Amino acid sequence: ARQIQLVRRPAGLPTTDDFRMVDVDLPDLGPDQVRVRNTVLSVDPYMRGRMNDTESYAEPYALEAPMLGAAVGVVEESTSDRVPVGATVSHGAAWRDAEVLDAGAVRVVDVERAPASAYLGVLGMPGLTAYVGLRRIAALAEGETVFVSGAAGAVGSAVGQFARQLGAARVIGSAGSPEKVAWLTEELGFDAAFDYHDGKVSHLLRDALDRTGGGRADVYFDNVGGEHLEAALLHLAEFGRVAACGAITTYNDQQPAPGPRTIGLVVPRKLTIRGFIVSDHADLAGDFYASAPGWVADGSVRTRETYFEGLEQTVDAFLGLFSGANLGKMLVRL
Ligand code: NDP
Repeated sequence: ARQIQLVRRPAGLPTTDDFRMVDVDLPDLGPDQVRVRNTVLSVDPYMRGRMNDTESYAEPYALEAPMLGAAVGVVEESTSDRVPVGATVSHGAAWRDAEVLDAGAVRVVDVERAPASAYLGVLGMPGLTAYVGLRRIAALAEGETVFVSGAAGAVGSAVGQFARQLGAARVIGSAGSPEKVAWLTEELGFDAAFDYHDGKVSHLLRDALDRTGGGRADVYFDNVGGEHLEAALLHLAEFGRVAACGAITTYNDQQPAPGPRTIGLVVPRKLTIRGFIVSDHADLAGDFYASAPGWVADGSVRTRETYFEGLEQTVDAFLGLFSGANLGKMLVRL
């Protein structure tokens, strides 16, 4: 079986030379194990942080060992009563085409309810992140105005649509191309959206708020940090909340970026900026799975996926996250 390994710690934006493809023999199955043939791999921005050898919420990747990421696949051989041959499973041990895993490390997913790839996106970790960020971190209330950056990505596209389901009155998004902006407003029901390349983010956000009735935003769901965070603070209402989910503009920085110059507004506007990591909020998964599959099934939440083809394209798919090559969730089909 083939796997992709990290061979050195990237400096700045990773390059293909930081990785290598290795062929390995799979071991025979021990008790309560499964052999999984992966069908779809996920690439996720947080994986950049794990490539550094620094202390964080997730362990650094070991060098010359497989890159561990979310995946779905089909069980080809099993010594587990709970996970039969033919089951579709999700797990967190991929950037490999096939592997032997303990049955306890995989979760059987319901492919009657949704296609397997959905469990890597809207019904998986990114979807739960959107839900947790809106409900618990931002404490979204009925009738509020939400602004989300990275709005055409996996988390962001869920944020805008979930916000509506959770009672938001207005949803505004920013993304990196005219095609993405059109998707947000024409298909996903965002009230306004802008391409952040078209000018200063603070002006573009002000215009978008004005087009949707004026006023300020109550919630900013931050996926990107940087200039977006600075602009959002400027246009948040009194008692506004920032759900600080990610800051992809900074992930390849080798020196810390300067802080937002609008930080001084936090006190007079009584703003809250709250960071979170989805895995600390697994207690909301029950509520999430009671709501989100229905929203997807009845079409009130729509999704897109962008596929790269083949294990050899996995690194390119990952790098594509930093150039905005994905509309919706970025995936690799094996
Ligand atoms: P996305 O599907 O949103 O892919 C990343 C997107 O980021 C790209 O498509 C690109 O879109 C955008 N982007 C890249 N560079 C920049 C830039 N310089 N400025 C603005 N936008 C940029 O990824 P995810 O949905 O998986 O993740 C979104 C965010 O959520 C990330 O920050 C991630 O780390 C975070 N996250 C946090 C979790 C948590 O527990 N806190 C869990 C999961 C994700 P565009 O074309 O619009 O630029």
